[in-house]
Amino acid sequence: LISVEEALDRILSRISPLGEELIDLAHASGRVLARSLHSQLALPQFDNSSMDGFAVRHIDVSGATPEKPVVLTVIGDAPAGRIFAGKVETLQAVRIMTGAPVPAGADAVVPIEDTDYDGRTPGTSSPVNVKVYRTAEQYQYIRSRGQDLQQGELVLEAGKRLRSQEVGFLASVGTARILVYRMPRVALFSTGDELVPVDAQISAGKIFESNSYMLASLVEKYQGEVIPLGIVPDQENDVRECLMQAVRKKADLIVSSAGVSVGAFDYVRSALEKDGKLEFWRVNMRPGKPIAFGEYQGIPFIGLPGNPVSAFVGAELFMRPLLIKMGGRSSWSKPFVTVKVLEAIESDGRESYLRAFIRNEHGGWVASLTGHQGSGNLRSLVQANALLLVPSGVKSLPIGSEARAYILDDE
Ligand code: AMP
Ligand code: MG
Repeated sequence: LISVEEALDRILSRISPLGEELIDLAHASGRVLARSLHSQLALPQFDNSSMDGFAVRHIDVSGATPEKPVVLTVIGDAPAGRIFAGKVETLQAVRIMTGAPVPAGADAVVPIEDTDYDGRTPGTSSPVNVKVYRTAEQYQYIRSRGQDLQQGELVLEAGKRLRSQEVGFLASVGTARILVYRMPRVALFSTGDELVPVDAQISAGKIFESNSYMLASLVEKYQGEVIPLGIVPDQENDVRECLMQAVRKKADLIVSSAGVSVGAFDYVRSALEKDGKLEFWRVNMRPGKPIAFGEYQGIPFIGLPGNPVSAFVGAELFMRPLLIKMGGRSSWSKPFVTVKVLEAIESDGRESYLRAFIRNEHGGWVASLTGHQGSGNLRSLVQANALLLVPSGVKSLPIGSEARAYILDDE
């Protein structure tokens, strides 16, 4: 029997990131960058206006007020997307749009609100003169070249998972394709003679198979690709055939549920012991003590317990970090908050992960347990938004005591 921490260390020490692949930026969301990227260009690339208005020499409009406006001659237009050909000389201005390059000679932009010009209708041509009602600071409303990013600067570091804003940032420096880590391919199967597919007729003594749906959903949540291998009968040969199928389908990880306990029909463990390598199969935790880890023909294998809550907790604790590491990220710590428990909690001294609902009350987090905590009862998880940790060796938490709660509704 080993601790959760030791189990995780042993699993992760055998896992390294998968290879890279080149993808279009359009498919980059959620992927993990495999190479650090430096920018070929500066952002912005050129000094440009942050307002619709007039590009001026700030010195010309110094002291301008509504009572004593400065009148400038408008020498042309600077729309977005074009370089203005001329140069702004003394007492001249250029009508300018947001995003347009600042014309030579100008060093400030006066917004139209500070002028007598109100030609806001599209298509209106620029006026001959403009009255400026207000003094301008040098460089006001000018977004300077390199303000956001210098040429050659690091855009994003390898190992970074790409959120929407990173994808946008990559596009803004002109990246059409990127090298990302390959997504782990996860072969999933469930064992048990009692299991019936959700779309089949159920008969006495049988139950609908639910773990594979839940686990497939978790695999996808943590950026893996599912290879569904279905339901396998409690027969050693069937289990072995299923493992071989995972090899043929080029799985990067094999995950099963049930059949790893000490029951007379628990063939997953024995199949692995015979044809593969079993590292450990019991972890000192609750729920989900029977958790197996090993490898089958070089492919890492996690055998989760059959009870749905145990399978879920085991997957969060072990499969999640494994997938994250395989997928190229270097940090997999799960977000948690410190909570005060609203009820007395009993445990049996094993490291326990209880289904809890946490909420913020007067600036602090409080937690209560949800539903019936039996490891077969998925409803308690449905009602939960966190897993409350009762550390190893602790048998009771009195009302009001502090504990750690891992947030489930995160990424
Ligand atoms: P086992 O690990 O085979 O002893 O199974 C423990 C409990 O989990 C039993 O009540 C099983 O019926 C149940 N169980 C096992 N596999 C699944 C599954 N894929 N979906 C739902 N329940 C399951
Ligand atoms: Mg069974």
